[in-house]
Amino acid sequence: MLTKANTPSLENYWMPFTANRQFKAAPRLLASAEGMYYTDIDGGKVLDGTAGLWCVNAGHGRRRIAEAVERQLTTMDFAPSFQMGHPVAFDFAEKLAAKAPGGAEAKLDRIFFTGSGSESVDTALKIAIAYQRAIGQGTRTRVIGRERGYHGVGFGGISVGGLVNNRRVFPTLPGTDHLRHTHDPERNSFAKGLPAHGAELADDLERLVALHGAETIAAVIVEPVAGSTGVLLPPKGYLERLRAIADKHGILLIFDEVITGFGRLGTPFAVDYFGVVPDLVTTAKGLTNGAIPMGAVFASRKIYDALMQGPEGQIELFHGYTYSGHPAACAAGLATLEIYEEEGLLTRGAELANHWQEAMHSLEGLPHIIDIRTIGLVAGIELASREGAVGARAYEIFTDCFKKGLLIRVTGDTIALSPPLIVEREQIDTMVSMLSDSIKKTG
Ligand code: PMP
Repeated sequence: MLTKANTPSLENYWMPFTANRQFKAAPRLLASAEGMYYTDIDGGKVLDGTAGLWCVNAGHGRRRIAEAVERQLTTMDFAPSFQMGHPVAFDFAEKLAAKAPGGAEAKLDRIFFTGSGSESVDTALKIAIAYQRAIGQGTRTRVIGRERGYHGVGFGGISVGGLVNNRRVFPTLPGTDHLRHTHDPERNSFAKGLPAHGAELADDLERLVALHGAETIAAVIVEPVAGSTGVLLPPKGYLERLRAIADKHGILLIFDEVITGFGRLGTPFAVDYFGVVPDLVTTAKGLTNGAIPMGAVFASRKIYDALMQGPEGQIELFHGYTYSGHPAACAAGLATLEIYEEEGLLTRGAELANHWQEAMHSLEGLPHIIDIRTIGLVAGIELASREGAVGARAYEIFTDCFKKGLLIRVTGDTIALSPPLIVEREQIDTMVSMLSDSIKKTG
C-alpha cells in the first residue's frame, strides 16, 4: 500500500483539473478506500462527502465488482468493438434497458456504450445530428447548450457547455449557442425544494429558434440538475416547458445525467424524478460505481429506428470507441446494477432526502453563506466570494475539511456534497458538523 515512506516522485504525472504546482507543494494523496471512507497515505481516515467524484454511489471497495472484473479479465480481457461483439455487452445493455428512463411507452432503451461522460456527451450530440439527417433534416446541425452547463471536455462538450473558462482557450463547434442559466439566488435563495421562480427562462429556446431558425437546430442539451457548476436546480415547470418548445420545433432534447443518473436524486434517473422524458440521456460515473471508466447513452427507439434505415451492410452510425462496451467495464456495470437492486440504492436517496435537506439547512445563518440548495442526496452551499478572489474562501474550507477528515468538492464559491448512497444519517450529521467548523473558521 502507498504510504508516505514509499510515495513516488511527483514530477511526472501531469494532473488533470488541478493546480499542479500548488498541489505538488502540499499534496493530498489517497491510498485506499472502503465503504464511506478513504484513507490517506498518512493513515488518516477521510469521510467521503462526494462519492469520489459523484460516481461511487454504492460506496467504496465493493468485492462483488472487483470479483466480477477479475473473472471477466481472466475469461476474456478485451474484444474488438469493430464489427465484433461479446455477450457481456449485450447482457449489460439488456439489464440497463430494463431500468431505462422514460416509462413503458417512451423507454430510452437503445444503449450506446462509451468510455466516459465526455464521450457520452459527444456521442449524444452526434447521434442527434445523425438522426436529423436520417429523417431528411440535414440542415439541423446546430446544438444548443446552457450557460453554466458542464458537459465534459470533448470539443462537443465544451461547445455546448457554459463555462467560459473552458471555451476561452479552445475553438468550439460552429453555430453552438446557449440558453441562459436558471440560477437566481436573489429570488430563490434558501428555498427548499425546486426554485419557484424561473420556468420562463425555458422560453430562451424560442428566442434562439427565432434567431437561428428551427431548421438549423438539431438538439438542446441540459443537465436536469447542474452539478459541477454549483448544484443548480431547475425551476418548477422549467424542464416541462423546455420539452414542449423543443417538440414544437422538431428539436431533440438531451438530458445529461452523468451526475443525476443512478440514484443521485432518489430516483433511478432525473427523468423519473421530474417526469419529463428527453430523447437521449447521457450517463457515466455511477454506471460502474466509478470502478472502471465507462459511459452510456440511452436513446429512444424513434432515434434508433430512424438510424437503422438505409442499405443493409452499411454502418449506420460511423462512431464508436475502442473501449465501447469493454468487457471488464460491462462486468463491473452488471455487478454494480445487482448491488443497486439488492440494496435498494437507486431510491435510497428519497428516504434520506428529508434528513439531508434539514441537515444542510441547519447551516443557514453561518457567516458567508448566501444560499443552500438540496435535492435527493446532493447539496450546494453557496458562499459570498471574498473580494477579488472567487473560490478562495471555498478552497480554504475544502483544505481545512480534508485535514479534519472530510472530503468535499468546491466549484467557484459553492461547496458541493454528494455522498455515496449508502451514507447513514449519523454520517450526514458528522459531515455537517465538520463543515460547519471549517466555515466558521474562514475569514
Ligand atoms: N457531464 C456532466 C453532467 C458531468 O458532471 C461530467 C463530469 N463531472 C461530464 C459530463 C464529463 O464526464 P467525464 O469527466 O467522465 O468525461
